[in-house]
Amino acid sequence: MIDQTKTKASILLIYTGGTIGMKEDPEDQTLKPFDFSQILDAVPELGKFACRLDSWTFNPLIDSSDVEPGLWQSLAELIRDNYQSYDGFVILHGTDTMAYSASALSFMLEHLSKPVIFTGSQLPIGSPRTDGKENLISSVEIAAAKDKDGNAVVPEVCICFDSHLYRGNRATKVNSENFNAFSSGNFPPLAEAGINIKYNTRYIHYPSDRSCPLEIHTELDTRVSILKIHPGITPQVVRNILCGAETRAVILETYGSGNALTKDWFIDIVREAVALDKILLNVTQCFSGSVNMSLYATGKPLQDAGVVSGYDSTTESALAKLFYLMGASSDNAWVKLMLNNSLRGEISK
Ligand code: ASP
Repeated sequence: MIDQTKTKASILLIYTGGTIGMKEDPEDQTLKPFDFSQILDAVPELGKFACRLDSWTFNPLIDSSDVEPGLWQSLAELIRDNYQSYDGFVILHGTDTMAYSASALSFMLEHLSKPVIFTGSQLPIGSPRTDGKENLISSVEIAAAKDKDGNAVVPEVCICFDSHLYRGNRATKVNSENFNAFSSGNFPPLAEAGINIKYNTRYIHYPSDRSCPLEIHTELDTRVSILKIHPGITPQVVRNILCGAETRAVILETYGSGNALTKDWFIDIVREAVALDKILLNVTQCFSGSVNMSLYATGKPLQDAGVVSGYDSTTESALAKLFYLMGASSDNAWVKLMLNNSLRGEISK
């Protein structure tokens, strides 16, 4: 049973940047990150929660287009260092790369038993019609929610946006203008905020052993490229990306259920890349649905050539999973094997 009454939780609010805290620069009229105090000033409601709210501000604050894996490493370390002192973490982050960061943190934080909620906004918190206020308040409430035994209701890395809570490694930014900036094409929301916050507990992942200590993985191997298949793609482009010396893995964004062109030159390059020990991971360009390479004659040659299925993974999650697995081992055969498993609920298997 979920106790949605006020809890004596303690939450660490981590501010990385993003529109939520931006202000217009009078010089060039572009939005630039501003300081944290304006966020707290704009949301006096936060003071009404019966929980302790502390904050941590990154320096410099960034537009999330500038996010690098180094930020994820800092976030993972910050959460580890403060894990015992807080019941939950709320990360204010730009929307542009929020799905990448949430996916990355989901893999980097193993045996998580507390909420890590990413949120942000489409309009700065100082603007009268801002969505930042509601997003922030819902995130804090969700991060603080405990069941009757005092355990976190959502012990996962999530994105909370526009009244919906999504598993972080299942979410994608789908709208650059409207308040419903995120969606999850292959997994139901974990919660919906109306008059009350309704938790879809049957979809929330609960750790089998809550006493298992949090383990963080900050070793990431970023030698991954993404190739979006499209009509008119040339052998030169495909070879450069698939066989490039600097690339250890390539995410192939294919059509429909994992299909691509069947031209001999294309399959030959795919085979060449596999022979070079490149990891080729197939994800669909579709928003919903899964890769199934044995369905069509246009998918089977990829499977036969040694391309690995990404199932119903988002591209963001596939990228983060590769960074994490390749950082954990230099053995590509092991990485390919692990790609078949759902590690943090990122694929339906
Ligand atoms: N460019 C901004 C960012 O991602 C957009 C936003 O926050 O919504 O930091």
